Amino acid sequence: MVGAEPRTSEGWPTAAATLIAGLLAWYDRDRRRLPWRAEPGAAVEPYPVLLSEIMLQQTTVATVSRRFPPFLARFPSLEALAAADLADVLHAWQGLGYYRRARGLHALARAVAARHAGRLPSDAASLRSLPGIGPYTESALRAIAFGQPVVPVDGNVMRVLARLYRIETPLPAAAPELNARAQTLASDCRPGDVAQALMDLGATLCRPRAPRCPACPWQAACAAHGAGVAEQLPRRASRPARPVRRGLAFLLTRPDGAMLFRRRSAEGLLGGLHELPSSPWLEGEFVIAAALGHAPATAEWRLHARPVRHVFTHFVLELTLAEAATAAGPAGIWCRAAELGRLALPSVMRKLLRQAGRSGRGAPELSQPRG
Ligand code: SF4
Repeated sequence: MVGAEPRTSEGWPTAAATLIAGLLAWYDRDRRRLPWRAEPGAAVEPYPVLLSEIMLQQTTVATVSRRFPPFLARFPSLEALAAADLADVLHAWQGLGYYRRARGLHALARAVAARHAGRLPSDAASLRSLPGIGPYTESALRAIAFGQPVVPVDGNVMRVLARLYRIETPLPAAAPELNARAQTLASDCRPGDVAQALMDLGATLCRPRAPRCPACPWQAACAAHGAGVAEQLPRRASRPARPVRRGLAFLLTRPDGAMLFRRRSAEGLLGGLHELPSSPWLEGEFVIAAALGHAPATAEWRLHARPVRHVFTHFVLELTLAEAATAAGPAGIWCRAAELGRLALPSVMRKLLRQAGRSGRGAPELSQPRG
């Protein structure tokens, strides 16, 4: 439980007021300059905030910093996004991974156009009713885009607060207490900057390993630093290992160098994206002869020795590449390496093409999920 604390004349708990003052002074001096951020004091446009928050859900700041400007240039407003074809949005999302977010963003833009005349709503209930908006994104939008007194709490902020208050309860059980602690820092004074300052503190100083406590504005107040246990917090309950699914991915090549692709069904994992044909992705014993039965053509398939490994949220995928040549080949989507930029290829497929030395030129780099 968070105990009652004495308050300043503005209504803040005094400890919170001191913490916020130190945090904002540090932020004004040392904040990260990011392409979606407004300068302190400048008007905030909700759409870039929304876009960046959706992109940052599972992708690193470095990757989003590269991919955000071209995406915003291509879809400069929610109206433009709502009017676009989903295939174009998925194509522009390449390099960011986790394509479910792109589909959700597109659906959100259309819902905002239909229900809110193209303007992003600012209240919690309306935001949460939109596709792709969970509790964290709702709080981040309210704080950063609309200046409401709420503190969004993600993994970085939980780490900072678990250390500041030396919360020994393991995650995820500690989450409600950490969220309650975070909300004691909510105020009407620069709520967007407080939210972004906390994000920056977690990302640049209060890192998972080797926190840079001597540079931290909260060093004097930090209980974990004082006790010398900062790096051990937050504690985590052990998670069960992700299951491993295996399969064969088939790279069939024509004499003109074109490779065979197909488009995944619109629903489900990697929905609507292009891929090399593959056998089903199955857990348990991997029988190569059975997997070869799913090859798109009868040919002399040569198998690579090592599978390509890709970590999804709920499972690990190991795909072994099988290569063959064909004189004509079956009907399908045929594409040369130099033309791969016109396909919407998920990261795991790009890894396979790289292993085969066919990644082509001009294709965007892969994204790395936020660790
Ligand atoms: Fe994190 Fe160290 Fe700052 Fe505490 S003093 S909040 S452990 S960086």
